Amino acid sequence: MRRGRVPHAYLFTGISGIGKTSVAKAFTMRLNCHAPSGLDGCGVCPSCRKMLNGNFPDFISIEPDGQRIKIEQIRELNRSLGYAPLSGGYRVCVIHRAEAMTGEAANAFLKTLEEPPPGNIFVLNATEPRDLLPTIVSRCQRVSFMPLKAREIAEQLNKETHLDGSSVSILARAADGSLGRALKMGESNYLERRQTWLKTLFELYDCSGAEAMNMAVESAKESRAGLDQPGNKKVGLFDMLSVWASCYRDLLLVRTGAPKDLLINEDFFGQLKETASGLSLQNLIESFQMVDRAVRDLYRMRNPTLVMENTLLNLQKMAS
Ligand SMILES: [Zn+2]
Repeated sequence: MRRGRVPHAYLFTGISGIGKTSVAKAFTMRLNCHAPSGLDGCGVCPSCRKMLNGNFPDFISIEPDGQRIKIEQIRELNRSLGYAPLSGGYRVCVIHRAEAMTGEAANAFLKTLEEPPPGNIFVLNATEPRDLLPTIVSRCQRVSFMPLKAREIAEQLNKETHLDGSSVSILARAADGSLGRALKMGESNYLERRQTWLKTLFELYDCSGAEAMNMAVESAKESRAGLDQPGNKKVGLFDMLSVWASCYRDLLLVRTGAPKDLLINEDFFGQLKETASGLSLQNLIESFQMVDRAVRDLYRMRNPTLVMENTLLNLQKMAS
């Protein structure tokens, strides 16, 4: 923008909730601003105000319809691109989860990228660019978004929410670098459920096989959901497994004598220490992998009760 040379297609990559869409919006605002200063829009001109109010006519957003972005959606986009931008400036089209385009949709979109109508800029958002057609990737200017530091997430949570200090610190550590994820966690009952899930896992090491089976049946009753699923705001099985994975990560760190402030579940330090002392490194590594495998099995739509029985019994057996 400083040199007056803006490519017509960008690929923004990185985990969700990290600011890709916010940057696309700020970029659209600056491109169309009547009195920009540096790399920011002024925020007060008619075009900036429309952008801030969410009714700027030349900001188009495309999201998967169900699981995929379908060819009809790309055809409709192409029809609207035939008209010059209404504002007289640039039209920006953001394609969310671009990796979700069907083969047909991707090929149709590739043609648009090869001969883009003037005045249009495309921003493709993707978590995993390997799933995109290489011919699409090569036509885009790539921008990588890095995970945020726990400290940065904590600062923002303090600004945007009314959560208490200890909740902020837990969420900032558990959010995997994603502010969006931290905010969703704060709005759901994640903190409360996390306590229960961690306690269940610690209890597993003091119970019988029959009790472990009961735990498995109980935990399989969690909905097959997760906060990372687009549009979902309820915690579920995937969040439970992600908490367990973070717990094994912590146990490994404690077992190897890493400093306490590296832990995600720092508030459970006492229990982590006690449990880690009874388990070997090899056992902890295998347990971590087992939780990871349970996540993959659930994505493959295996029966949750069977997956949980298998996982909990194996975790328990390894320890004895
Ligand atoms: Zn402006």
